[in-house]
Amino acid sequence: KSRVAEKWVKTTCGYCSVGCGMLVGVRENKAVAVRGNPDHPVNRGKLCPKGLSEHHILDSPGRAKQPLLRKNGVLTPVSWDEALDTMVARFRDIQQRHGNESLGVVGTGQLLTEECYTLGKLVQLGFRTRNNDGNTTLCMASAVSGYKLSFGSDGPPGSYADMETADLILLIGANIADNHPILCHRVDRTSPGTKPRTLIVVDPRVTKTAMMADIHLPVKPRSDIALLNGIAHILIREGLIDRDYIARHTTGFEQFANFVAAFTPAHVAAITGLTEETIINTAWLYGKAKSAFIGWTMGVNHSTQGAVTVAAINNLALITGNIGRSGAAPFSITGQCNAMGTRETGFTSSLPGYRKFDNPQDREDLARIWNIPVERIPSARGLAYPDIIEAAVQGRIKALWFVATNPAVSFPNAKLLDHALRSVEFLVVQDGFHPTPTSDYAHLVLPAAIWGEKQGTYTNSERRVSKVNPAVIPPREARPDFDIFLDIAQRLGVRNELYPGWTSTHDAFLEWQRVSAGRMCDYSKFTWQQIEDANGLQWGGTSLYTDGIFPTEDGRARLHSVPCDPFTEQPDSNFDFILNTGRTVEHWHTRTKTAEVGILNDMVPNAWLEMNPTDADRLELKPHDRVTVRSRRGAVADIELRITGIVAPGQVFMPFHFSETNSNIVTLGAFDPISREPNFKQCAVRIERT
Ligand code: SF4
Repeated sequence: KSRVAEKWVKTTCGYCSVGCGMLVGVRENKAVAVRGNPDHPVNRGKLCPKGLSEHHILDSPGRAKQPLLRKNGVLTPVSWDEALDTMVARFRDIQQRHGNESLGVVGTGQLLTEECYTLGKLVQLGFRTRNNDGNTTLCMASAVSGYKLSFGSDGPPGSYADMETADLILLIGANIADNHPILCHRVDRTSPGTKPRTLIVVDPRVTKTAMMADIHLPVKPRSDIALLNGIAHILIREGLIDRDYIARHTTGFEQFANFVAAFTPAHVAAITGLTEETIINTAWLYGKAKSAFIGWTMGVNHSTQGAVTVAAINNLALITGNIGRSGAAPFSITGQCNAMGTRETGFTSSLPGYRKFDNPQDREDLARIWNIPVERIPSARGLAYPDIIEAAVQGRIKALWFVATNPAVSFPNAKLLDHALRSVEFLVVQDGFHPTPTSDYAHLVLPAAIWGEKQGTYTNSERRVSKVNPAVIPPREARPDFDIFLDIAQRLGVRNELYPGWTSTHDAFLEWQRVSAGRMCDYSKFTWQQIEDANGLQWGGTSLYTDGIFPTEDGRARLHSVPCDPFTEQPDSNFDFILNTGRTVEHWHTRTKTAEVGILNDMVPNAWLEMNPTDADRLELKPHDRVTVRSRRGAVADIELRITGIVAPGQVFMPFHFSETNSNIVTLGAFDPISREPNFKQCAVRIERT
């Protein structure tokens, strides 16, 4: 009886970017249940295991409940005044001695859009450092960069509904069954009333998503560019392209056609491991579809070639005119609940509202809206996340501030990250949870409110802005990130200038509406109430680029010739396996939250390593043996072995969620030169019995 809710609070899930609508059941300021919102257009009442158990994180024992300042080596409870006074004094002192850019800040796609916007102003205009990035660089930066390469701007062109109206769905490196589970309903082809359509899944593993496909293409790791170029080759050769669309809306076709001429089926078969017949069949299916949808996620983005792989995907959509209409889109499925809000509000790879740092008019625009001298707005971005870490190792960054992110588990090459965190003079970790592997390094821990305790908006993968509402009050002294930012601004002496009269996240939303008005990501067209009433509203409508006009100088999209280079660290006789990393449906990223949920931990308590039976036979390993994964950078010991045909011979897979068996001890610290996204997916390892 004590679990019966007295009221139900409408809100949006705080885990992944699907953006499911939900109702949180509350009794005596305790969240006692969650259920799907049956009226929500994204999930239509359904939730995955994480969403259904999300209320358990709110009063979990792992919550950070009071500010902690390291004194004599020990994190010691202090008042908020002492915590924030110390933070501002230490940052100021370090910046005075080493320059403004000796401070680096890494935010997150876990914040509300209103908080992302507020933080961006605080860091760039208050602390006056450009070294501001988000943990979104670890997951979506390649999609952003790829969209910019092809279309001149970020902005996913399609919607989830396209998966239902397309004739053909091509998923590349997107295991939605584990990572975006509610989207699986969008590719259902068997229920009454669903449109017959073809689902093709490109993935080196036989993932749960691949098992749902009509055709699974088990490509060799990192051969996706060759496949995409090969499909383009066949489309052009067989006349399966939209010459009118190409002529009116793109540039670079002749050069592109000449480039992909070398990607014959035989050549592509040799690179991908697929048969020529499969490659030709795939191209014909894509080319004959009246509307074709390509979705991708981390299998594409987590690469040193992520940005150009996205451009190669966009090439297919552009040469066939599969963009800007129902069922036709190249579509990045984002990671975190508000990765899009981080991208749009900017101050990372773009200025707010997808404005460009190097565009004087864009900077003038912002200066006018903010009533500040234009010189205050940087004309070039600062360091991206991996470069902030590198700069900390080199001593150029002396102070770090992490907001709602856990790099000690999520950053590649954990040794380098450890060096960085130990090197800085002052490290602030602001998070809803403590201790975490990252907050253990901190000089100052700021306890933050989390999903379920604050009000604002998230924007999901399909650009749908949804309302997020508080169900309960934060535990003890934990405070909303927004309030923390304003208090820091007060101490810096910039609160009245940057946030005049602001008292709530709604004030931030109102200014963000003015900043985004007339931009592609235009939030001025709807109010909080309208968003709430409609269960979310999409900026840009269901499809972008419906008129074929792109935000480039000449209004045309660009076709890029994308070389297919081998990945950085190839296996050899010492390190003879290719390690792939990824996620499972029961856990969220570094388990800061899901480790607190008993039912999820019971379902998946530990990491595992997948190995093909032929390799297990060769190494004389049996199911459930304990093994060590070793690379040139370190070793992860004592992992349970699963012998399975899910992975191909010569490849192994492990989930990256678990700090106890942190895959980033072995992963490579290699980054995309354009997006700066890490190459989490391929590195050379050997497997030993523990
Ligand atoms: Fe939440 Fe994503 Fe699961 Fe939906 S699919 S309930 S948004 S974690």
